[in-house]
Amino acid sequence: MCLFCKIIKKEIPAKIIYENEKVLAFEDIEPVAPFHILIIPKEHINTINDLDDKKAAVFADMMMAAKNIATAQKIKNKSYRLIINAGEDAGQTVFHIHMHMIAHRKLCSL
Ligand code: AMP
Ligand code: ZN
Repeated sequence: MCLFCKIIKKEIPAKIIYENEKVLAFEDIEPVAPFHILIIPKEHINTINDLDDKKAAVFADMMMAAKNIATAQKIKNKSYRLIINAGEDAGQTVFHIHMHMIAHRKLCSL
């Protein structure tokens, strides 16, 4: 079982900040900003490259989680960056789809 599936099953501790039937969000263990969490689907999917039409629906749930978290966590100006690394060359190290949500730091334009 992958690391994030173990976090979902509460076999590995994490600072959970949001949870519903479809998604879980918890603090990143190595934050790169004062606010840095990971939003993951409860369904194990390795990468975006493994999505199909049915599985892609998890992204609607992940985006709604980001929106709800921005309100619940009082993210300043509701301004944040969402990042998904897909594949090793893009920096993906955990092969269970996850979206980084980063805020409370001045972010450069892309
Ligand atoms: P990525 O490089 O996009 O695959 O992101 C994986 C992220 O998972 C990194 O930012 C890590 O800091 C984070 N991470 C790894 N292990 C844990 C853990 N046990 N709890 C929380 N975050 C973790
Ligand atoms: Zn998994």
